[in-house]
Amino acid sequence: MKVEAFAAPSARSALQPWSYDPAPLGPEDIEIRISHCGICHSDIHLIDDDWKVSRYPLVPGHEIVGHVASVGPAVRHLRIGDRVGVGWLRGACLNCEACRRGEENLCPNGQATCVGAHGGFAQRIRVDGRFAFPIPTALKSENAAPLLCGGITVYAPLVNFEVRPSHRVGVIGIGGLGHLALQFAAKWGCEVTAFSSSKNKESEARRFGASHFINSSDAHQVARAKSSLDFIISTVHVDLDWVAYMNCLRPNGTLCFVGVPTKPISVPAFQLIGGQKSIVGSSTGGRPRIAEMLEFAARHGIEAQTEVIPLSDVNQAVDRVRSNQARYRMVLEMPK
Ligand SMILES: [Zn+2]
Ligand SMILES: [Zn+2]
Repeated sequence: MKVEAFAAPSARSALQPWSYDPAPLGPEDIEIRISHCGICHSDIHLIDDDWKVSRYPLVPGHEIVGHVASVGPAVRHLRIGDRVGVGWLRGACLNCEACRRGEENLCPNGQATCVGAHGGFAQRIRVDGRFAFPIPTALKSENAAPLLCGGITVYAPLVNFEVRPSHRVGVIGIGGLGHLALQFAAKWGCEVTAFSSSKNKESEARRFGASHFINSSDAHQVARAKSSLDFIISTVHVDLDWVAYMNCLRPNGTLCFVGVPTKPISVPAFQLIGGQKSIVGSSTGGRPRIAEMLEFAARHGIEAQTEVIPLSDVNQAVDRVRSNQARYRMVLEMPK
C-alpha cells in the first residue's frame, strides 16, 4: 500500500500531494500510523536545499508522533497500537564508539529521518523501531511531537554542558525552540532570562518560566545584563552582536548555539581567555537522552505550545514557520 504524503518536488517549491511505495519492513523496523508531525526550521532548510543534502521529491518532517501499525519480527520492545515518537534520526549503526556510548546523534552513519528518506509529512512512516520512543501518557500527541526535535535540542545542552540548578540561564530567541528552552531551564531549577526582539512575547516568556525579559533589539538592555549568566542558549537563525552576549556571561560561562546564524561567528579570542568562557554547539541527542527528556517533560508538565493545522493545509503552516509567525510550533494533524 502506497504511503500518502506531501512532498516538495524541487528546491524552494510548495509542497504537493505525493505517494510512494515504502521499503520492505526490516526485522527491526516498525511502521507508524502518524497522527501528528511538528514543523521544524530544519524542514524549511531541507525544502530550500540550504544544506545541499536534499533529494527530491522531499517529504519533510522529523517531529513525528503516531501509533505502531506493524512491527518487524525482531522487534520486542514495541507492540502494535503503542504510541511512539520519532525525531531527527531514524537509524544509526549502533556499533561505533558514539553509538556504544548512547550518543547515536554523533554516529558518522546516522540516518536522518527526512534526509535521503521520506519523513513525517505523511500518513505513515517506516523506521528502525530502536529509534521510536514511547510517549508518556501525560503528554498530548500534538504537544509532544515538537519535543522529538525541538525539545531534545534544548534539553541536551543542559545535561551535556553540566548546567546546574544554581546557574542562571539565558535563552536567545523565544520561538519554537526558545519557548521550550525557557520551560526546560526553569524546571531544571535555573533562574532564566529571555532575550527576544518581540516585546509582545514578554508575558508569555514569563509564563514559560522566564524571571527576566530583555528586549534584544535594545543594545542598552543587553549591555545591562553584563556578567549575569552562566549559560546562554541561542536558538536564532540571524546574526547578532555575539560579543555583547559573551559579555553577558559570568566567568566560566558558555554560549551554546543550537540555531544557525547566517554568518560565521566572530569574537576576539580575549573574550574566551579573559573569563575562561566557551562557545559550543549542540545537535539533538542520543537515544538515552531523548527517553530521559520525554520523562522529564511529562513529570514537569513541559509541552510545546502549538498551532495544529490539517496536513492538507501544510503550505499555510510552512509559511507561518518561514515568517516566524508560529506561536510557537506548527503541528500538522493527519487525516484519521
Ligand atoms: Zn528539527
Ligand atoms: Zn554509530
